[in-house]
Amino acid sequence: RARKRFGQNFLHDPGVISRIVSAINPSTEDHLVEIGPGQGAITEQFLPRVGRLDAVELDRDLVRLLESRYGDREHFHLHSADALKFDFCALAEEGEKLRVVGNLPYNISTPLLFHLLENSQCIRDMHFMLQKEVVERMVAGPGSKTYGRLSVMLQIRCQVQMLFPIGPGAFQPPPKVDSAFVRLTPYPHPLHQVNDIALFGQLVTQAFSQRRKTLRNTLKGLATEKTIEDCGIDPSIRAEQLSLEQFSCLYKGIASA
Ligand code: SAM
Repeated sequence: RARKRFGQNFLHDPGVISRIVSAINPSTEDHLVEIGPGQGAITEQFLPRVGRLDAVELDRDLVRLLESRYGDREHFHLHSADALKFDFCALAEEGEKLRVVGNLPYNISTPLLFHLLENSQCIRDMHFMLQKEVVERMVAGPGSKTYGRLSVMLQIRCQVQMLFPIGPGAFQPPPKVDSAFVRLTPYPHPLHQVNDIALFGQLVTQAFSQRRKTLRNTLKGLATEKTIEDCGIDPSIRAEQLSLEQFSCLYKGIASA
Protein backbone atom coordinates (compact mmCIF):
# COMPACT_ATOMS: atom_id res chain seq x y z
CA ARG A 1 0.00 0.00 0.00
CA ALA A 2 1.26 3.43 -0.93
CA ARG A 3 2.09 5.76 1.96
CA LYS A 4 0.85 9.28 1.51
CA ARG A 5 3.27 10.91 3.90
CA PHE A 6 6.21 9.60 1.84
CA GLY A 7 4.66 10.95 -1.36
CA GLN A 8 4.37 7.50 -2.88
CA ASN A 9 3.00 7.15 -6.41
CA PHE A 10 4.51 4.15 -8.12
CA LEU A 11 5.26 4.22 -11.82
CA HIS A 12 3.67 1.33 -13.68
CA ASP A 13 3.38 2.37 -17.33
CA PRO A 14 6.00 0.36 -19.33
CA GLY A 15 5.91 2.93 -22.16
CA VAL A 16 6.86 5.77 -19.80
CA ILE A 17 9.49 3.62 -18.08
CA SER A 18 11.15 2.89 -21.41
CA ARG A 19 11.10 6.58 -22.44
CA ILE A 20 12.86 7.39 -19.18
CA VAL A 21 15.53 4.76 -19.81
CA SER A 22 16.13 6.04 -23.38
CA ALA A 23 16.33 9.67 -22.21
CA ILE A 24 19.02 8.76 -19.67
CA ASN A 25 20.70 6.32 -22.04
CA PRO A 26 22.83 4.66 -19.32
CA SER A 27 26.10 2.89 -20.01
CA THR A 28 27.99 0.23 -18.08
CA GLU A 29 30.54 2.92 -17.17
CA ASP A 30 27.90 4.93 -15.33
CA HIS A 31 27.49 5.30 -11.59
CA LEU A 32 23.80 5.95 -11.10
CA VAL A 33 22.13 7.16 -7.91
CA GLU A 34 18.41 6.66 -7.62
CA ILE A 35 16.39 8.69 -5.10
CA GLY A 36 13.21 7.06 -3.80
CA PRO A 37 13.29 3.76 -5.74
CA GLY A 38 9.98 2.67 -4.21
CA GLN A 39 9.17 -0.84 -5.40
CA GLY A 40 11.93 -0.72 -8.01
CA ALA A 41 9.99 0.20 -11.18
CA ILE A 42 12.96 1.99 -12.71
CA THR A 43 15.68 0.39 -10.56
CA GLU A 44 14.91 -2.91 -12.26
CA GLN A 45 15.49 -1.38 -15.72
CA PHE A 46 18.75 0.30 -14.76
CA LEU A 47 20.41 -2.53 -12.84
CA PRO A 48 21.50 -4.53 -15.91
CA ARG A 49 22.64 -1.38 -17.75
CA VAL A 50 24.96 0.46 -15.32
CA GLY A 51 28.31 -0.11 -13.62
CA ARG A 52 27.04 0.73 -10.15
CA LEU A 53 23.69 1.73 -8.73
CA ASP A 54 23.14 3.33 -5.32
CA ALA A 55 19.56 3.78 -4.17
CA VAL A 56 18.39 6.02 -1.32
CA GLU A 57 15.00 5.11 0.16
CA LEU A 58 13.35 6.45 3.32
CA ASP A 59 10.56 3.90 3.81
CA ARG A 60 12.00 0.93 5.74
CA ASP A 61 9.38 -1.49 4.43
CA LEU A 62 10.38 -0.66 0.86
CA VAL A 63 14.05 -0.97 1.78
CA ARG A 64 13.32 -4.55 2.94
CA LEU A 65 11.42 -5.29 -0.26
CA LEU A 66 14.20 -3.90 -2.48
CA GLU A 67 16.82 -5.78 -0.47
CA SER A 68 14.99 -9.06 -1.00
CA ARG A 69 14.58 -8.40 -4.73
CA TYR A 70 17.96 -6.99 -5.70
CA GLY A 71 20.20 -7.49 -2.66
CA ASP A 72 22.19 -10.24 -4.40
CA ARG A 73 23.47 -7.92 -7.16
CA GLU A 74 27.00 -6.94 -6.31
CA HIS A 75 26.87 -3.54 -8.00
CA PHE A 76 23.65 -2.57 -6.16
CA HIS A 77 23.97 -0.54 -2.93
CA LEU A 78 20.89 0.31 -0.95
CA HIS A 79 20.82 3.15 1.60
CA SER A 80 18.04 3.34 4.13
CA ALA A 81 18.19 7.10 4.51
CA ASP A 82 16.61 10.50 4.00
CA ALA A 83 17.71 11.96 0.66
CA LEU A 84 17.40 15.48 2.10
CA LYS A 85 20.28 14.74 4.48
CA PHE A 86 22.22 12.32 2.32
CA ASP A 87 25.84 13.06 1.41
CA PHE A 88 25.73 12.24 -2.31
CA CYS A 89 29.34 13.17 -3.06
CA ALA A 90 30.53 10.58 -0.53
CA LEU A 91 29.40 7.94 -3.07
CA ALA A 92 31.60 9.24 -5.87
CA GLU A 93 35.13 7.93 -6.34
CA GLU A 94 37.84 10.54 -6.79
CA GLY A 95 37.12 12.46 -10.01
CA GLU A 96 33.95 10.48 -10.70
CA LYS A 97 30.67 12.19 -11.61
CA LEU A 98 27.37 10.68 -10.59
CA ARG A 99 24.21 10.43 -12.64
CA VAL A 100 21.15 11.02 -10.46
CA VAL A 101 17.60 9.91 -11.20
CA GLY A 102 14.38 9.96 -9.25
CA ASN A 103 10.65 9.97 -9.33
CA LEU A 104 10.73 12.45 -6.49
CA PRO A 105 8.18 12.73 -3.74
CA TYR A 106 6.54 15.98 -4.84
CA ASN A 107 6.19 17.37 -1.33
CA ILE A 108 9.98 17.61 -0.87
CA SER A 109 11.06 18.30 -4.46
CA THR A 110 12.24 21.92 -4.07
CA PRO A 111 14.39 21.44 -0.93
CA LEU A 112 15.77 18.25 -2.47
CA LEU A 113 16.78 20.05 -5.68
CA PHE A 114 18.61 22.68 -3.64
CA HIS A 115 20.30 20.00 -1.54
CA LEU A 116 21.48 18.26 -4.72
CA LEU A 117 22.80 21.52 -6.12
CA GLU A 118 25.00 21.82 -3.03
CA ASN A 119 26.51 18.52 -4.19
CA SER A 120 26.65 19.43 -7.87
CA GLN A 121 30.45 19.30 -8.12
CA CYS A 122 30.23 15.49 -8.18
CA ILE A 123 27.12 15.25 -10.40
CA ARG A 124 27.15 14.86 -14.19
CA ASP A 125 23.41 15.09 -14.69
CA MET A 126 20.06 14.65 -12.91
CA HIS A 127 16.78 13.39 -14.31
CA PHE A 128 13.56 13.78 -12.37
CA MET A 129 9.87 13.17 -12.59
CA LEU A 130 8.24 16.18 -10.99
CA GLN A 131 4.99 17.99 -10.80
CA LYS A 132 4.55 19.64 -14.21
CA GLU A 133 3.83 22.99 -12.62
CA VAL A 134 7.19 22.85 -10.81
CA VAL A 135 9.01 21.94 -14.05
CA GLU A 136 7.36 24.92 -15.76
CA ARG A 137 8.75 27.18 -13.04
CA MET A 138 12.18 25.56 -13.40
CA VAL A 139 12.46 26.25 -17.15
CA ALA A 140 10.65 29.62 -17.30
CA GLY A 141 12.39 32.70 -18.73
CA PRO A 142 12.01 36.43 -17.97
CA GLY A 143 8.61 37.91 -18.69
CA SER A 144 6.79 34.66 -17.99
CA LYS A 145 4.30 34.38 -15.14
CA THR A 146 6.06 31.28 -13.78
CA TYR A 147 9.54 32.87 -13.83
CA GLY A 148 10.79 33.26 -10.27
CA ARG A 149 13.35 32.34 -7.65
CA LEU A 150 13.36 28.65 -8.60
CA SER A 151 14.00 29.45 -12.30
CA VAL A 152 16.87 31.84 -11.59
CA MET A 153 18.57 29.80 -8.85
CA LEU A 154 18.56 26.65 -11.00
CA GLN A 155 19.41 28.24 -14.34
CA ILE A 156 22.43 30.09 -12.98
CA ARG A 157 23.93 26.69 -12.07
CA CYS A 158 22.50 24.16 -14.55
CA GLN A 159 21.10 23.70 -17.98
CA VAL A 160 17.44 22.80 -17.40
CA GLN A 161 15.41 20.95 -20.05
CA MET A 162 11.83 19.76 -19.88
CA LEU A 163 11.87 16.43 -21.77
CA PHE A 164 8.26 15.18 -21.84
CA PRO A 165 4.99 15.34 -19.90
CA ILE A 166 3.64 12.33 -17.97
CA GLY A 167 -0.05 11.94 -17.22
CA PRO A 168 -1.41 10.83 -13.81
CA GLY A 169 -2.44 7.44 -15.26
CA ALA A 170 1.21 6.33 -15.46
CA PHE A 171 1.28 6.07 -11.64
CA GLN A 172 -0.39 3.93 -9.03
CA PRO A 173 -2.18 5.52 -7.23
CA PRO A 174 -2.57 8.34 -9.78
CA PRO A 175 -1.46 11.71 -8.38
CA LYS A 176 -3.86 14.67 -8.55
CA VAL A 177 -1.50 16.64 -10.77
CA ASP A 178 0.24 16.29 -14.13
CA SER A 179 3.93 15.40 -14.10
CA ALA A 180 6.88 16.01 -16.39
CA PHE A 181 10.34 14.55 -16.90
CA VAL A 182 13.19 17.05 -16.60
CA ARG A 183 16.97 17.01 -17.08
CA LEU A 184 19.40 19.20 -15.14
CA THR A 185 23.03 19.37 -16.24
CA PRO A 186 25.20 21.32 -13.77
CA TYR A 187 27.74 23.74 -15.25
CA PRO A 188 31.32 23.43 -13.94
CA HIS A 189 30.88 26.95 -12.46
CA PRO A 190 27.80 29.14 -12.05
CA LEU A 191 27.16 31.38 -15.08
CA HIS A 192 28.38 35.00 -15.26
CA GLN A 193 30.99 34.59 -12.46
CA VAL A 194 28.39 34.28 -9.72
CA ASN A 195 30.79 32.84 -7.15
CA ASP A 196 28.93 33.63 -3.95
CA ILE A 197 25.69 31.68 -4.37
CA ALA A 198 24.48 32.65 -0.89
CA LEU A 199 24.67 36.36 -1.71
CA PHE A 200 23.15 35.80 -5.15
CA GLY A 201 20.33 33.81 -3.48
CA GLN A 202 19.68 36.64 -1.06
CA LEU A 203 19.36 39.09 -3.95
CA VAL A 204 17.03 36.83 -5.94
CA THR A 205 14.86 36.00 -2.93
CA GLN A 206 14.53 39.65 -2.00
CA ALA A 207 13.84 40.73 -5.61
CA PHE A 208 10.96 38.24 -5.90
CA SER A 209 9.70 38.69 -2.33
CA GLN A 210 6.86 40.91 -3.48
CA ARG A 211 6.26 40.20 -7.13
CA ARG A 212 4.15 43.31 -7.73
CA LYS A 213 6.69 45.75 -6.33
CA THR A 214 9.39 47.51 -8.33
CA LEU A 215 13.08 46.74 -7.87
CA ARG A 216 13.53 50.18 -6.31
CA ASN A 217 11.32 48.93 -3.44
CA THR A 218 12.19 45.26 -3.16
CA LEU A 219 15.94 45.85 -3.22
CA LYS A 220 15.95 48.59 -0.56
CA GLY A 221 18.82 48.04 1.86
CA LEU A 222 20.59 45.70 -0.58
CA ALA A 223 21.13 47.66 -3.79
CA THR A 224 21.02 51.42 -4.25
CA GLU A 225 19.23 52.99 -7.18
CA LYS A 226 22.65 53.80 -8.62
CA THR A 227 23.70 50.14 -8.47
CA ILE A 228 20.52 49.23 -10.35
CA GLU A 229 20.99 51.98 -12.93
CA ASP A 230 24.67 51.14 -13.42
CA CYS A 231 23.45 47.81 -14.81
CA GLY A 232 21.31 49.65 -17.33
CA ILE A 233 18.17 48.56 -15.47
CA ASP A 234 15.22 50.84 -14.92
CA PRO A 235 14.52 50.70 -11.11
CA SER A 236 10.79 50.86 -11.77
CA ILE A 237 10.62 47.42 -13.42
CA ARG A 238 9.91 44.20 -11.52
CA ALA A 239 12.08 41.16 -10.87
CA GLU A 240 10.16 38.97 -13.29
CA GLN A 241 11.54 41.08 -16.15
CA LEU A 242 15.23 40.58 -15.27
CA SER A 243 17.43 38.22 -17.26
CA LEU A 244 20.13 36.05 -15.64
CA GLU A 245 22.78 38.51 -16.91
CA GLN A 246 20.97 41.41 -15.26
CA PHE A 247 20.66 39.52 -11.97
CA SER A 248 24.37 38.78 -12.09
CA CYS A 249 25.19 42.41 -12.84
CA LEU A 250 23.21 43.45 -9.75
CA TYR A 251 24.96 40.75 -7.75
CA LYS A 252 28.38 42.10 -8.79
CA GLY A 253 27.33 45.63 -7.92
CA ILE A 254 26.25 44.50 -4.43
CA ALA A 255 29.30 42.28 -3.93
CA SER A 256 31.70 45.12 -4.73
CA ALA A 257 29.83 47.76 -2.71
N1 SAM B 1 10.67 5.47 -7.99
C1 SAM B 1 9.44 4.77 -7.61
C2 SAM B 1 8.53 4.66 -8.81
O1 SAM B 1 8.74 5.42 -9.76
O2 SAM B 1 7.64 3.83 -8.81
C3 SAM B 1 8.73 5.44 -6.44
C4 SAM B 1 8.34 6.90 -6.61
S1 SAM B 1 7.44 7.62 -5.25
C5 SAM B 1 6.78 9.07 -6.06
C6 SAM B 1 8.65 8.41 -4.21
C7 SAM B 1 9.55 7.47 -3.42
O3 SAM B 1 10.44 8.25 -2.61
C8 SAM B 1 8.83 6.55 -2.45
O4 SAM B 1 9.37 5.27 -2.56
C9 SAM B 1 9.09 7.17 -1.06
O5 SAM B 1 9.08 6.22 -0.01
C10 SAM B 1 10.49 7.75 -1.27
N2 SAM B 1 10.81 8.87 -0.39
C11 SAM B 1 9.98 9.81 0.16
N3 SAM B 1 10.66 10.72 0.86
C12 SAM B 1 11.98 10.38 0.76
C13 SAM B 1 13.19 10.93 1.29
N4 SAM B 1 13.18 12.03 2.05
N5 SAM B 1 14.36 10.31 1.01
C14 SAM B 1 14.39 9.18 0.23
N6 SAM B 1 13.27 8.61 -0.29
C15 SAM B 1 12.09 9.21 -0.04
